[in-house]
Amino acid sequence: MTHIQGKVALVTGASSGIGAATAETLAGAGVKVGIAARRKGRLDALAATIRDKGGEALPIEMDVTDVAAVEAGVKKLIDAYGSIDILVNNAGLMPLSDIEKLKTDEWARMVDVNVKGLFNTTAAVLPQMMKQRSGHIFNMSSIAGRKVFKGLTVYCATKHAIAAFSDGLRMELGASHNIRVTCIQPGAVDTELYESITDEGYRKQMEELADQLTFLKPGDIADTILFAAGAPAHVNVAELFVLPIDQG
Ligand code: NDP
Repeated sequence: MTHIQGKVALVTGASSGIGAATAETLAGAGVKVGIAARRKGRLDALAATIRDKGGEALPIEMDVTDVAAVEAGVKKLIDAYGSIDILVNNAGLMPLSDIEKLKTDEWARMVDVNVKGLFNTTAAVLPQMMKQRSGHIFNMSSIAGRKVFKGLTVYCATKHAIAAFSDGLRMELGASHNIRVTCIQPGAVDTELYESITDEGYRKQMEELADQLTFLKPGDIADTILFAAGAPAHVNVAELFVLPIDQG
């Protein structure tokens, strides 16, 4: 196993759901975590929880669509802890709607946050990881990055883009820079993600899904990230496809 105690991680979208759980889990394993998102109050509360349990956490107010804010956030983490060993590119949103509704502002928002935001954070962290000649990047795709669901068209497009980006990153960074890349593709997880849906029909549909499936808990995904991060140094867990047992 790779010893991850004392390593430094940056987790985006850490103010709720999978990101918050991942930060707590990594901190519980002795990782110093930079917890990034826009909602500062949530980050401060999470940092307090982590510190109460003996962990180390640094709140970083950062919109992933703002390149300057991302670069400043990465610098803040390096200044505080001296390195970045793990990046969890997790920030994302899922406002679902039918294409014929032409909610192009929501399409653009998903591309900006889910895809370009992930690129921004990766680009800001890579110089440090390349300098260290080590690192591990986790990219949050989805089951929607493996198959397309009707009505989730733009969301699926963003999550497929993340899967493609991850595979290419892995090939470009593994041998040359000793950086591991893991693409995570969860099924349904019980989080606030569905609150970004403005279309009433899809919101209801997602609520009904919760009655049909045993949703994963955010901590279930956090545990798989911990597993991959702790794998021996020569092992790259390239994909994590994690589903509720009753999700088809
Ligand atoms: P949440 O809504 O709980 O978390 C989303 C996080 O993204 C929040 O912390 C939010 O923080 C952050 N975020 C959103 N926009 C921005 C932005 N512009 N800049 C920085 N941070 C931002 O949902 P989940 O935990 O479920 O989602 C996390 C990831 O998991 C997403 O990428 C999602 O697509 C993916 N996923 C989720 C699944 C599920 O069923 N829940 C299944 C498969 C994948 P803030 O608002 O404070 O900025």
